[in-house]
Amino acid sequence: MENFEQMGLSPDLLKALRAMKFEKPTEVQSMAIPEILKGRDVYVRSKTGTGKTAAFLLPIMQMLQRGRDPGALVVVPTRELALQTDGVARKLAANSRLHVTTVYGGVSLNPQIDSLDAGTDLMIGTPGRIIDLMERGAAHMDGVRFLVLDEADLMLDMGFIDDIEYILKSMPRTKQTLLFSATSRKEIMDIADRHMNNPFHISVGPDDELVVTSIKHMYAIVPGTKKIATLLAYLKTRMSANSKSIVFARTQIAASALYSALSDFGMSPLLLHGGMTQAKREMAMRRFKNDKSGILIATNVAARGLDISNITDIINFDVPDDPIVYIHRVGRSARMGKDGRAFTIFSSDQARELKNIEYYSNISMEREQINTDEFKNVSFGKYFQRGRYDSDRQGQSRGFRNDRSGGFRGRSRDGGRGGDRSHDSYRQRGNYRDRRK
Ligand code: ADP
Ligand code: MG
Repeated sequence: MENFEQMGLSPDLLKALRAMKFEKPTEVQSMAIPEILKGRDVYVRSKTGTGKTAAFLLPIMQMLQRGRDPGALVVVPTRELALQTDGVARKLAANSRLHVTTVYGGVSLNPQIDSLDAGTDLMIGTPGRIIDLMERGAAHMDGVRFLVLDEADLMLDMGFIDDIEYILKSMPRTKQTLLFSATSRKEIMDIADRHMNNPFHISVGPDDELVVTSIKHMYAIVPGTKKIATLLAYLKTRMSANSKSIVFARTQIAASALYSALSDFGMSPLLLHGGMTQAKREMAMRRFKNDKSGILIATNVAARGLDISNITDIINFDVPDDPIVYIHRVGRSARMGKDGRAFTIFSSDQARELKNIEYYSNISMEREQINTDEFKNVSFGKYFQRGRYDSDRQGQSRGFRNDRSGGFRGRSRDGGRGGDRSHDSYRQRGNYRDRRK
């Protein structure tokens, strides 16, 4: 459909859309909203940045009737996404009297319980905290008529499958289930088969077109100990006063080390990883979001679904383990058709990873010659104490990854600490193999 008016949305919602400057629906929105309004279960696969949030919030808010207990539940993988979805929901609800409650781990339960007690129409949250509140008897799901699983593939990557099944089984039988994912993997289709009622499938863009085409993909391949100098030289020579970039590191320790290195060279970066307190994470996110330029150093926590506008550069200090993570990361730049650049630093033994990323993402990467003379005295050992952290493959074979994988074994209960750790380290070997078939 060409415009929001034709969809039969209420004047309240249309007014909110005008205030948000959403002039016409995106492709996903024009396909999904009419089907959802018809009462169908809908399955949407489309890449990041295509407007999926409003695609489910608009029709749900149109149909939602006010009551005491939640009439709609939106499940998202991370606290950051919960807050982001909350922000969109509140803007859309600006002219209606719908109550929104958003819940996630890592913060006190009481305000969330109070908000539910006061009456909620739309509940948004991370899986662990939703279950916690259900089991405490604070969240009553009997009235749920709409259930949304957003970023379903990421929730599976984070090991939330048992939580999702539990939530799905705890919902009333008669409801509409809406599932959103950037990729369609077998596990996602399984959930759709088992828990959805004859879902309407929407796929935007061919499945192999996951990478936004307006991104320029670049790389350097250097000895592991030269990676910091390469990063510093790249930032120094390629960034302008208007650049807004995210530097991805594999682990919290690596992210902190890069933070020290960049700070030593006067670059004033921001830091975001799952080991930080919720307050600090929110502050870093807010600053990065509001600033016109700057550098955010992040682990995978920030890699998916976050909507930060005007990111110009994605820099992979550590090569993502799985090509799909590369796609998720670079999906942060070039949102809504803007141009972006991605730069990945491979260590000398990672030529095969380079080929894999090119092959699975269906892109070709250009090699950049980075002159590191100015930084040749930067000591790798100063920032990365030997034995504690090794930023490439060797580190893994010494069991570094395995040490941390304990964080998401079993059911993650809070969407907070445990969830973050798993988010930082994606459980990807499995997916990776699936994708090759
Ligand atoms: P996705 O969930 O597919 O990654 P989001 O829902 O986060 O996408 O939306 C991506 C960006 O597009 C956000 O900045 C959002 O405000 C903007 N956006 C969404 N729908 C529209 C629209 N109809 N018109 C203009 N901007 C939109
Ligand atoms: Mg989204």
